[in-house]
Amino acid sequence: MSKDKPAKIPTPQPVRGTQDMLGDFADRFAHVVETFERVRRLYGFKRVEVPVIEPTAVFARSLGETTDVVSKEMYSFDDRGGDSITLRPEFTAGIARAYITNGWQQFAPLKVATHGPLFRYERPQKGRYRQFHQLDAEVLGSDSPLADAELLVFADQLLKELGIAEGVILTLNTLGDAASRDAWRAALVEHFMGHRGDLSEDSLARLDKNPLRILDSKDPRDRPIADSAPDIDAFLTSEAQDFFGAVTAGLDAAGVAWERNARLVRGLDYYRHTAFEFVTDRLGAQGTVLGGGRYDGLIENLGGPPTPAVGWAAGIERLAMLVGAAPRDFVEFVLIPVGGEAEALCLKLQSVLRRKGLACDMGYKGNIKKRMQRADATGAVAAIIVGGDEMRDGEITVRHLGSGQQARRTLAEIGDARVGATHTRRLLLEGIDGNSWSNE
Ligand code: ATP
Ligand code: MG
Repeated sequence: MSKDKPAKIPTPQPVRGTQDMLGDFADRFAHVVETFERVRRLYGFKRVEVPVIEPTAVFARSLGETTDVVSKEMYSFDDRGGDSITLRPEFTAGIARAYITNGWQQFAPLKVATHGPLFRYERPQKGRYRQFHQLDAEVLGSDSPLADAELLVFADQLLKELGIAEGVILTLNTLGDAASRDAWRAALVEHFMGHRGDLSEDSLARLDKNPLRILDSKDPRDRPIADSAPDIDAFLTSEAQDFFGAVTAGLDAAGVAWERNARLVRGLDYYRHTAFEFVTDRLGAQGTVLGGGRYDGLIENLGGPPTPAVGWAAGIERLAMLVGAAPRDFVEFVLIPVGGEAEALCLKLQSVLRRKGLACDMGYKGNIKKRMQRADATGAVAAIIVGGDEMRDGEITVRHLGSGQQARRTLAEIGDARVGATHTRRLLLEGIDGNSWSNE
């Protein structure tokens, strides 16, 4: 063999702003999704799936050309047929498109939930990625404030079940109906025009197209001007006032704490009435963990029938960062065969245990000591050792990895496929795990 090392093949690097996950963060991520899946069932939200790719018009028309997402963050490309396609930057517009093209009006009011990857061309930083993931919940075809309240109570319960409600606060605003919003908008433009010399360049650009956005500007030059701008309250029609009152009454009835933030406007143009964000100061600048609102005009903007709707989305990565520690994903039992014959027996025993519903794995690499250490490191409860002695007697050795105690069990009783998971676990662990099983 030549001494020269072969030329090293360069490894393609991951796309900027994407993440690979394994271990603790992957477990937290899965925990967030599993909790969401469980809670959405408690609220009767049906699972919906929509494509990752949509015609660019789905987002351009519904989000509004002037929003950050459409003007600078979309991943759009022409496919081989020359059609302009966009990787979804959010769920709502795609779900609204699906509602129209599939005739889902027949199911209204329709409560749906989904989760998956989204794409935005943003500057990557902590809690901000180019491929990220969201949980999403929507109620389509209901103009009742009870729908808004239900979604908010759902979000609140989700955050509580994830154990991250502490330090996270629901901030709420109303953007009124079309009449309220137009009157407010005119008053805002007048206010901002009076200070146009002091506004940041970004806000000057928004003055024409999207003056509401100046209210939540983070630029220190804009803050005093935004803070002294008129609230919407003086412009709310009585219908809009009643609507907001009914939403907050629903929250109070369900025991969900909230705070009014009269400066809260959402990034997208389509919002009406309720707008909300669950915010925290525990994630630095990326403080919004869940946001949404009512978007009564969206489905009409996409060419559908006038359809009231409301929804929210939450960044899974941001939730996963807040979750203290996810329940670790581990197998309960690790089988350790000693010798070739034992290996065949362990393969069989392993499949019997798995079919009963007991999570197990087999350690087949390295010496016994190494394999025991590895089993311990995985977080398994016990090792099941099968060697020559055991085989001869038709038995196995179970070693509890916490207590270090071990005992022999007969293969016949453990491997009996008719005995269920709970009883088999007891047969394996009784007497060596330090627990009293007498009352079970
Ligand atoms: P931000 O103000 O942080 O940019 P946004 O208003 O763009 O948020 P939405 O479009 O409302 O966010 O999306 C809902 C949630 O999705 C956010 O609250 C956040 O948790 C998450 N999110 C949005 N953009 C990203 C991103 N680039 N990377 C990771 N999570 C994101
Ligand atoms: Mg954004």
